[in-house]
Amino acid sequence: MISVYVKTKHLFPTGSTVTYDNSIELSIDCLVCKRLNRTVSIDRYDAICIKNKHPFNAKVLDTLVVREKNKSVSELLCIKDNRELVTCTYLVQYDYIDFTDYKYNNLKSSPLPNWARIGFKITCTKCGTINTCSTQTNIVRPFSETCKCGQTLYTENEVLPLIYLKD
Ligand SMILES: [Zn+2]
Ligand SMILES: [Zn+2]
Repeated sequence: MISVYVKTKHLFPTGSTVTYDNSIELSIDCLVCKRLNRTVSIDRYDAICIKNKHPFNAKVLDTLVVREKNKSVSELLCIKDNRELVTCTYLVQYDYIDFTDYKYNNLKSSPLPNWARIGFKITCTKCGTINTCSTQTNIVRPFSETCKCGQTLYTENEVLPLIYLKD
C-alpha cells in the first residue's frame, strides 16, 4: 500500500465557511486495469476506478483542516489583509504494484498520483451564496474563483494540491 498526503492551502476572506468534500479524486496507475492515469474516487470507506467502475482498494484515512488566525497571516505576509489561511490535508492509502502499460507506449507505472482534485464548498462572506469549487493539479495558474456577486473567493498562484509520499 502507498500512503500519500494531499494538501490544499488557500487565503479565503476572513469568516468564510469552508467545507471540504469527504471524497477526493486521484489519478493513479491502476493495478486492476493495468493502465496508467486512471481517475479513482476515494472516500473514507472505499474507492472506485471511474473508467471501468471497478472497486479499488483505497481509502481516506484522515482529513485535517487548519485555519490560521488572520493576524498571523498578516504578519506572515507583512501586509494588512482581511484573509485567513486555510489548509486541508487528506491522508490517503491505496494499492499499488509496478506494471507496464502495453497500450500506452509500454510506459512503466509509478507509485505517486499523477494529479489530484479536492472539492470544497465556500460560503461567500458578502452575499451568502454557497459556491462549489475544486482545486486540481493540472489547471492553468494563476487561477481565481469569483462569486457571482463579484467577490474574489481565492486566487491560486502555485500548483495545488501538493502531494507528498508518506514515509
Ligand atoms: Zn482501474
Ligand atoms: Zn457573493
